[in-house]
Amino acid sequence: MPIALTLNAGSSSLKFGVFEISDAPKEIAAGLVERIGGQPRIKADFGDLDGKIQRDLSAEEARDHKSALDTVLDLLRERITNLHAEAVGHRVVHGGPRYSEPMVVTPGVLGELRALSPFAPLHQPHNISGIEAALEAFPQALQVACFDTAFHRHQPKVNDEFALPREYYEKGVRRYGFHGLSYEYVSGELKSFAPLLCEGRVVIAHLGNGASMCGMLNGRSVVSTMGFTALDGLPMGTRTGQIDPGVIFYMVQQEGKTIDEVRDLFYKESGLLGISGLSNDMRTLEAAGTPEAKEAIDYFVFRCRRELGGLAAALGGLDALVFCGGIGENSRYIRSRICDGLDWIGIELDRERNEANERRINGTFSRTHVLVVPTNEEIVIARAAKKLLASA
Ligand code: ADP
Repeated sequence: MPIALTLNAGSSSLKFGVFEISDAPKEIAAGLVERIGGQPRIKADFGDLDGKIQRDLSAEEARDHKSALDTVLDLLRERITNLHAEAVGHRVVHGGPRYSEPMVVTPGVLGELRALSPFAPLHQPHNISGIEAALEAFPQALQVACFDTAFHRHQPKVNDEFALPREYYEKGVRRYGFHGLSYEYVSGELKSFAPLLCEGRVVIAHLGNGASMCGMLNGRSVVSTMGFTALDGLPMGTRTGQIDPGVIFYMVQQEGKTIDEVRDLFYKESGLLGISGLSNDMRTLEAAGTPEAKEAIDYFVFRCRRELGGLAAALGGLDALVFCGGIGENSRYIRSRICDGLDWIGIELDRERNEANERRINGTFSRTHVLVVPTNEEIVIARAAKKLLASA
């Protein structure tokens, strides 16, 4: 059975998946190496092959993405004889203005992806390290890049541009939007179990450590909360979300911070962590119950509701709200807080269905459908790898 590997390289983590590429790709193993370059740890589920493992790794076993991948491959080889990947699919955060679908990574494409690094300096270089490591490990495999921006590339120009002098649009300063692989998966699921609804006005709320919302018409993205970078829109675990750019001038000019310090403040020290002073993790904040934790949750909920209203206005109304991501899929409390009092937009939550974490959580008389659809970015990558493999 041919195998495809999926890789999702973050700043200090490497998520992997192993799929049998039959008609519908089937996951046979998945896992994560975290704290690469520090005190690394691996969590993996080898399913029928060998169950779950979770253990610390030596610094040597994951000093960078390349050695982390080698460690993962050693573990896989112990369990899969003659491990041979036909394709390796990579999550790549930025596809720039050009890439609106997955691409086979040729030397030319890799060069373009490197050139896009200034657009996503905290993510793109790690994605490229993942590709380089996979090229070395599987030189014969088809390397496929799947872009988080691609799903949004056909948005109308009015949501694609900023009110800057025109030259900057041409230079690529645009609203790209992210979490595209997640939106593609969830909209595909919606299409399969509620095709008519999928043709309507739908907002998907991807609420995880990173969070964004996407407004879709007829299954296509027309508006999203993230913009030029994955910093805009909703507040996140450690990212500010939307913020007046004037704060940057103030931080530099009055607080004497360097621009790198402001970047780190906005990306790594803000959001839920910044307001709560406690944690970036929603579970911890829900359990903590301190005034600061409550304030962080209130801010998150308020901004989700505010953006939802804005997206619904852009769509001309709302037929369905779909929750996904770690918070969206699991937190009954946050879902109910977001939906509370949204009857003006046709939303009425069914408390019991919400508590039971059912797929449909709206009440019988709710005009707007409210759904929970667990996302699966890895399978979107595996499907893309399979498709490009078939046409290679
Ligand atoms: P990432 O963006 O890193 O992929 P996830 O989608 O895994 O993140 O989401 C992580 C977030 O989901 C964390 O804030 C975590 O606390 C939250 N989360 C997961 N399970 C629950 C739960 N049962 N209740 C509340 N929050 C949860």
